[in-house]
Amino acid sequence: MKGLIFSVKRYSIHDGPGIRVTFFLKGCPLSCRWCHNPEGLSSEPEVVTRTDRVGDMEFYQNEQAGRYYSVGEILEIVEKERIFIQQSDGGVTFSGGEPLMQTPFLAEALKACMSHGFHTAVDTSGYCTADNLRKIIPFTGLFLFDIKHLDNEVHLQQTSVSNSLILGNLRILLDSGKDIILRIPVIPGMNDDPGHLSRLKEFINKIRQDNVKRISLLPYHAIGSSKYKRFKIHYRMNGIQPPSPQRMRELKDFFAETGIEVKIGG
Ligand code: SF4
Repeated sequence: MKGLIFSVKRYSIHDGPGIRVTFFLKGCPLSCRWCHNPEGLSSEPEVVTRTDRVGDMEFYQNEQAGRYYSVGEILEIVEKERIFIQQSDGGVTFSGGEPLMQTPFLAEALKACMSHGFHTAVDTSGYCTADNLRKIIPFTGLFLFDIKHLDNEVHLQQTSVSNSLILGNLRILLDSGKDIILRIPVIPGMNDDPGHLSRLKEFINKIRQDNVKRISLLPYHAIGSSKYKRFKIHYRMNGIQPPSPQRMRELKDFFAETGIEVKIGG
């Protein structure tokens, strides 16, 4: 069985505890305005043209976005980093795109990693069928679960999908007892107004239980914006400034009132 992956990040320290290998699976059913991984959106391999500039000269180079990996190849890559992973209490993370779009492969890869003694994590938008989610729960040690907006209309407008499936799946994970890190992207003008932030804090207070290990606040950044041109996708965040470090510290203090550890970044 093979999975389509657009990036493999070794020595990752933002996708779960310790040093990890993170596999980014291609394909996402959402279309978030701020997405910084446009190469993860399509479920097909793509060839894109990269433009490099030296002075006034432009150089073009074709590059492939996405290639198929077998579960055996995943294990081979992870085994090479075993020493770093073990010494740091790290593991393996599957991110995307939306990794649950490739549930059969994801389940096999998680199972293989877990049976070889690696801690496993899945970074998900939560937008998948409950059946698919249940297939991976037994092989996943930690879920990095995004909450983007609690208002369904805004969620639909900003991500192209409703949040009802996502919130239902969060309930399933809470009941599963698996470790969860709630990830909140902080997107100026989208979800950072005082009214929404208060609702979010109230929501987290209500669902708070022991397996919610942390809240990660992910400040919007424009680092992925240059990739949009390459993928011929319109970038919809022009002119939006990232939140300042001071603002992020204020939000950290605000969410810390839930009693859950809060971290800025992954
Ligand atoms: S869920 Fe993640 S990968 Fe998918 S569009 Fe949104 S930000 Fe991008």
